[in-house]
Amino acid sequence: MTKEFTRQSGRKPDEIRPISAKVGIIPNADGSAMFQSGKTIAIAAVYGPKEHHPRNQRNPARGTLRCTYNMMSFSVTDRIRPGPNRRSTEISKIIEWALEPIVMLDKYPGLVVDVHIQMTQADAGTRCAGINAAAMALAHAGIPMKDLVSSIAAGKLDKTIVLDLDKYEDSEFEEGEGSTDIPITFTSDGKLTHIQVDGHITTEQLKQAMKMAREASKKIYEVQKQALKDSLGGGK
Ligand code: UDP
Repeated sequence: MTKEFTRQSGRKPDEIRPISAKVGIIPNADGSAMFQSGKTIAIAAVYGPKEHHPRNQRNPARGTLRCTYNMMSFSVTDRIRPGPNRRSTEISKIIEWALEPIVMLDKYPGLVVDVHIQMTQADAGTRCAGINAAAMALAHAGIPMKDLVSSIAAGKLDKTIVLDLDKYEDSEFEEGEGSTDIPITFTSDGKLTHIQVDGHITTEQLKQAMKMAREASKKIYEVQKQALKDSLGGGK
């Protein structure tokens, strides 16, 4: 008899952590938002569009989206050394790529939109939480956008496809065949803007992971949309 796989948190394979969102948390910013997933908390602040410095990086044909991801030194138990590192530089780029397809940068030739993403708590899934917060902050800043995006990680624990790994799950299955992490970002109508696959997965399992993540992204989108409405005092 095969033993059914159970998650340490008791969550079902397709069950994401409790999520919440708030828009307008940093009054000085042109747009700002917080996105929380379980114990992972991202805040995002948008400044711009504004003059692009350094000048040699200006794109005269369209605006530039410049994302900066950072984990605060107190965001995990082991203090994080302040300042950029390889991982944060890579995640900053990935967040830019996930957001670029929805931001109408052609409206701002030569200008830059700065998006600062700070993790105040990190319990895995930080790039997804960062993307979710950044998308809301851009909308709050009034930057023209084709859509919102919603991001969630799928993964493989043992041989089971699950959604939204927390740090315990991420570390527990780090060694061997079982460790696969697949952050995915969708527009509200289910189009992909970003996917990463770290680890081994079959085509069938990837299809299943995408399907589960696409369903979960709809729930995230509803929370983001409601937070934006609440910021306008619009309620339902
Ligand atoms: N982490 C950490 N120290 C670091 C980098 C990461 O403790 O220097 C933890 C943190 O909880 C993070 C998790 O490892 O959320 C997973 O990191 P990963 O690089 O897989 O990205 P994420 O899942 O956060 O997008």
